[in-house]
Parts: sequence; structure tokens; C-alpha cells
Amino acid sequence: MIKQTFQTYNGFQFELIFDKHGYCLCPVCGEKAKNKDWRPYDENGYPSYDICACGFEFGYDDGGEPPFDKSWELYREEWYKGELDFGNSKSLPKKIKDQQLDQLLNSEK
Ligand SMILES: [Zn+2]
Repeated sequence: MIKQTFQTYNGFQFELIFDKHGYCLCPVCGEKAKNKDWRPYDENGYPSYDICACGFEFGYDDGGEPPFDKSWELYREEWYKGELDFGNSKSLPKKIKDQQLDQLLNSEK
């Protein structure tokens, strides 16, 4: 796991996690990016407005205002407990959620 510190457009710092192959992990659920160049936020700290498999849309967290990591945490809890309504998108089985979260949280140690 590789951690990289980024800065939002207004100076708040946050960390993104990458796997050993350089793929960015979703800061909410730990889902690996499909594309190596993908980042939830660009190098200037502006959100991508992409939507992850967990349903989180980067940029619509707290109305797009940093600090982002607080909204990731809040959303992660709701996502994990299955309190979100995704409409058509499928909710992940708990086992997969556990694995993804392990990946995400273990990297913080
Ligand atoms: Zn996600």
C-alpha cells in the first residue's frame, strides 16, 4: 500500500491510498480503480464527480466542500450498514465489504 498526500483547492490535506500496482483505492469503500490514472480528486484538489461502485460521488460530499475525509467516513458507515438506496446498482455482499474495508483500513497502520 502506498499513501499519497493531496491538497484540496483551498489548502486542506487529505490522503489517498494506492495498491502496490499504483491503482488508487476508493477512500470510502476501498474499491480498486479500474484505470491506473484514475483519481477521485485531481492534482489541484478538485473533485472528479465520478461515482464509485459504493455510490459515492466525489464532489457531492458535503456539497463539494473540503474536508473530504469526514464525509468519506460518514458515507462509509452508511454504506457498510447498508443504509443507502442505490436504485439500480447492486449492494455488495458483506464479505466483500469486509475485504475492501480491511484493505483500506490496514493500509492506515
Ligand atoms: Zn467506493
